[in-house]
Amino acid sequence: MALIVQKYGGSSVADAESIKRVAKRIVETRKGGNEVVVAVSAMGDTTDELLDLAHDVTPIPAPRELDMLLTAGERISMALLAMAIRSMGYDARSFTGSQAGMITDAQHGAARIVDVTPGRIRDALDEGAIAIVAGFQGFNRDTKDITTLGRGGSDTTAVALAAALNAEICEIYTDVDGVFTADPRVVPMARKIDRITSEEMLELAAAGAKVLYIRAVEYARRHGVTLHVRSSFNNNEGTLVLHENAARAAKQEDGSTVEEPIIAGVATDLSEAKITVVGVPDVPGKAAQIFKIVAKTDANVDMIVQNVSAASTGLTDISFTLPKSEGQRVLTALKAEQGDVGFQNLQYDDQIGKLALVGAGMRTNSGVSAKLFEALYEAGINIEMISTSEIRISVVTRADSVNEAARVVHRAFGLDGDATAIVYAGTGR
Ligand code: ASP
Ligand code: MG
Repeated sequence: MALIVQKYGGSSVADAESIKRVAKRIVETRKGGNEVVVAVSAMGDTTDELLDLAHDVTPIPAPRELDMLLTAGERISMALLAMAIRSMGYDARSFTGSQAGMITDAQHGAARIVDVTPGRIRDALDEGAIAIVAGFQGFNRDTKDITTLGRGGSDTTAVALAAALNAEICEIYTDVDGVFTADPRVVPMARKIDRITSEEMLELAAAGAKVLYIRAVEYARRHGVTLHVRSSFNNNEGTLVLHENAARAAKQEDGSTVEEPIIAGVATDLSEAKITVVGVPDVPGKAAQIFKIVAKTDANVDMIVQNVSAASTGLTDISFTLPKSEGQRVLTALKAEQGDVGFQNLQYDDQIGKLALVGAGMRTNSGVSAKLFEALYEAGINIEMISTSEIRISVVTRADSVNEAARVVHRAFGLDGDATAIVYAGTGR
């Protein structure tokens, strides 16, 4: 008997009909002779609606109470789902995060899982029941308070349960068919990926691919949990996200001799801005000084580029990208220390787009960057910044050319499918 963890996102349980449809799917899995644990998100846009409601009451809701409020969303869906399953003649029991043993640190709104003690889930399974667990929530042992894991946290709940219960697989049900080589709304010829390594998935998620949350992928990678991202609206196979070692073993097992693609996919991101610190004295310690100021604001800096200094002035420019939402905060902090650092001025540019090309095959294939730059050149797209990791190349372009950039790069690397990808109305959550 295999233990399967299934996670259903908000769009899969948006209304009573959807809940009944999902219940059927869960029962089918149970009938197949499996033990089933389900992590469920709040129905549809419930979390957003609860957040709006809180902000209608007060501009700055108390974090403890906000978590109390938001966790109610998952309580609704878990209970309804358990009822629907029971009405089909199968035993199902719902559990809050705290009942399921999701122990977190005390940070409201962004708690981290520190331990999982799923004794009650194990007991329910042993008694033949299907366990339904509220996603996105946990409990802190010191404060004895309810916490939430941050937006999209139900993915992490599912992965953590799968790890703690030693599940065979963690299925993430959403409203798209899996992970695509690019966002089909940007690149119509995008293809569904059958298999991807967790390492590549992490880079794609970090570069803006929204189908899976980065923390869930990290958790899965650390604990060797295999993910299957698939649609709850059909029975198609989705995308397997495997640890590299598992991917290698699976490849040997099915005797496949097909060469793995060099590139897994392309991601774009329009949520970042660029700050340029102009006229920085080119002497030791200046970058340290600047980024210490930036670090104090807790900003998430991504790419950093320093120019060669002009010999005549001994001054250089340092540019970096960061989320637009953090831009003003960082500008203010830098401005306050301008005299001390001794730079000339600050430039802020929120009209940038970022494109990332990801693939483990980059390690062993040369010429990937040349091909990328060539494709952009042929499309007349200017590159403003470049950064690389072992398995990723990212470039910054003007915001209004990044989608075109994604399409030409997708084509240049032979990622285009035979037909236009089907895009559902959903958001991928
Ligand atoms: N309901 C929460 C949210 O919308 C958690 C989740 O859906 O994963 O962020
Ligand atoms: Mg949701």
